[in-house]
Amino acid sequence: MPHHTPLIATICAGIVLAFVLGSIASRIRLSPLVGYLLAGVVVGPFTPGYVADQELIPQLAEIGVILLMFGVGLHFSLDDLLSVKHIAIPGALVQIAVATAMGAVMAWLLDWGWGAGIVFGLALSVASTVVLLRALEERRLVETPRGKIAVGWLIVEDLAMVLALVLLPVFAHDAGESGDAAGLGLTIALTLGKVAAFVALMLLVGRRVIPRALELAARSGSKELFTLSVLSIALGVAFGSAMLFGVSFALGAFFAGMVLNESELSHDAAADSLPLRDAFAVLFFVSVGMLFDPSILVREPLQVLAVCLIIVLGKSIAAFAIVRLFGHPTPVAATIAASLAQIGEFSFILAAMGLDLELIPKAAQDLILAGAILSILINPLLFVLLDRSERKTAEARPRPMAPLTWKNHIILVGFGRVGSLIADGLMPHKLDIVVIETQDGPADNARERGLPVIYGNAVAPDLLASAGVERAATLLVAMPNVLEAAHIIKLTRERNPNLYIVARAHSVTDEAYLKKNGASETVMGEREIARCMAELASVPLPPAPLPLHVLPVGS
Ligand code: AMP
Repeated sequence: MPHHTPLIATICAGIVLAFVLGSIASRIRLSPLVGYLLAGVVVGPFTPGYVADQELIPQLAEIGVILLMFGVGLHFSLDDLLSVKHIAIPGALVQIAVATAMGAVMAWLLDWGWGAGIVFGLALSVASTVVLLRALEERRLVETPRGKIAVGWLIVEDLAMVLALVLLPVFAHDAGESGDAAGLGLTIALTLGKVAAFVALMLLVGRRVIPRALELAARSGSKELFTLSVLSIALGVAFGSAMLFGVSFALGAFFAGMVLNESELSHDAAADSLPLRDAFAVLFFVSVGMLFDPSILVREPLQVLAVCLIIVLGKSIAAFAIVRLFGHPTPVAATIAASLAQIGEFSFILAAMGLDLELIPKAAQDLILAGAILSILINPLLFVLLDRSERKTAEARPRPMAPLTWKNHIILVGFGRVGSLIADGLMPHKLDIVVIETQDGPADNARERGLPVIYGNAVAPDLLASAGVERAATLLVAMPNVLEAAHIIKLTRERNPNLYIVARAHSVTDEAYLKKNGASETVMGEREIARCMAELASVPLPPAPLPLHVLPVGS
């Protein structure tokens, strides 16, 4: 039995158990999150058996947060961030104030004192980056206008928490003594000054140096060096900025991604950090589960319920009202409210610090942890409700034709680069086509071309039914994710054994997998590219003119 390998043991136990329990959860049609959290409870100190290292796992989870925020930054430009400031700043601040007030009232009712009330309230007011981003990404909402508002909101919350974490010790210290307003003011000014210095440095210097570093690594032609450069930028900037400027790792990583946004290589950088990011983000949920002491559910059921109501209902009502007040439509307000109706990593840090400084009692920390795990569990359900109500409104929109009654029509899943070109190719033949698409932009694009669109993820069985899958002649699966595509094909095949199903593939293995799940034909992009390139080269063409700068001077 090897000794002294707590890091390896923690990573192995965390990942293996999260995988096993996540798979079981998904098998019984629950969100895999339930499995990940449960894995944490299993390796946590409150259940018998192996206990993972409680110091290491939150650090591993933090790497997930860094890579997640880096990935979001890659899709965000400074203009995007500035474009949402009018709603994100007041929205986040008002919501923090409302949630903190609710938490403080609860603390007051429990006789904890007002210092405890503020810490407790603040801990209930901040949403978890991981939970929010995963929910948005799952629905491909990050790059939509509402996704941008949610991310901007998250960043304001993050900054507010940086300030809170710096001020808490000063505040606890002052509360014991006479109270020094000047000292407090100085700390606030210093913290804000450091954040401003960090942002200025990133925008002035980082914006030039960081993309250059990535391009240099790309020019080496080594995939390995490129991946390393991506990780160095994400982790290096996050860590460096946290150490030097006192900003959070997440904020540092976000800016590192954002300054890369304009680089043409940002897509490759995103793809490179994806697998690592997902694995570490899963460890975040394991770490939340580990902290959770299930006995609190029996000891203080009413208090746990009150905390959950504050997080899930109180916060979302506040967020919903603010977003509506700013004139955004109901679906946007509802998405933002649902995204923020949970708490996570910042709450744990606040709670641990509050306990350390003797500002809050142990009971408050237990309640915060219980509130976190329960609100994270409830979060996917909120999105299911949201999806349902959105689908209803989407279906209520006038449609040019009714696919429900169609026969022998074509169902086209995905209207991105591939799907829209397929439609171009088919339109002259005057065939009946119905599109299923999850994103606003491509869906609007299809509608503009006069095609009926069913808005949502094609995996949902009732979506396929409204596309008239039982009576359709052809299903074209034009989306890149093969696992998801295979799942859709399997579901459709069960409902219509005679359907002609053509699916998009990226490799020979993809093709075999799609066929095994019921595809009639597959088209592999790479093979078609090769065929076309060979065709172009085999036709003798006049030599292309040389670009101007290679022509000899004077010619
Ligand atoms: P592209 O790779 O540019 O052809 O884009 C693929 C398109 O498929 C995107 O517009 C996605 O929103 C869409 N898409 C991906 N997965 C699904 C899904 N499960 N259901 C419906 N549309 C999807």
